[in-house]
Amino acid sequence: MPQAFPNAVARLRAARLARSVKPFLARGGPKGERCNGCRLVPSHCICTLRPDVPTRAGMCLLMADIEPLKPSNTGWLIADVVADTFAFGWARTEVDPALLALLNDPQWQPYVVFPAEFADEARVVHEVTHNDNKRPLFILLDGTWDEARKMFRKSPYLQNFPVLSLHPEQLSRYKLRRAQSEAHLCTAEVGAMCLALADDTQAAEALNAYFEVFTEHYLKAKQQLPVDLADDVHLRLNAATHAA
Ligand SMILES: [Zn+2]
Repeated sequence: MPQAFPNAVARLRAARLARSVKPFLARGGPKGERCNGCRLVPSHCICTLRPDVPTRAGMCLLMADIEPLKPSNTGWLIADVVADTFAFGWARTEVDPALLALLNDPQWQPYVVFPAEFADEARVVHEVTHNDNKRPLFILLDGTWDEARKMFRKSPYLQNFPVLSLHPEQLSRYKLRRAQSEAHLCTAEVGAMCLALADDTQAAEALNAYFEVFTEHYLKAKQQLPVDLADDVHLRLNAATHAA
């Protein structure tokens, strides 16, 4: 099923912008313009590369206030790849009734994705349980590390769900690759690991490859260099998208 467009994060971004008093300024191309579909400058747009892959799992992004406005936010990429992605702005004092309805929908088994050391031991799981009647719904807390911890502590409606803690050895593999800049995984990488645990293998690979393509286009745009659409990351994305 092709994902709805604009995607869930794009819709949240539009709602957040509509509430803004001050304009949010993100640097764009020579005239400041950015593609509405992918937020990159038009010369480095990735919209035609968006993978269309089947996914059984769902994603629920709880986003800190300005997170959907950041062009570097990678929850956006999850929303592009996973058809059933839901995105909500997080606030300590209020909760969107649509979020509560989603969490109560019996077709889903929600998992809060968070490190084990911050959760009660009894809630912590490291695997996704297979259940023919319930699809996994991964709740990702998308913000800075401080914001994510606050969301985890101050969202009573999350407190009855298992906490899915990703294995440290899986984390370290990623850290090695991006050791220079990333203290912890970005949201798209966490999402890809969740999809892999849910046996959504093709979607996991497509999201990883799409993230790498996005990163390359983002950096090349910053450096004002062209991208090579036939290089390894693009071939990897193409292979993941067209795997039968
Ligand atoms: Zn685009």
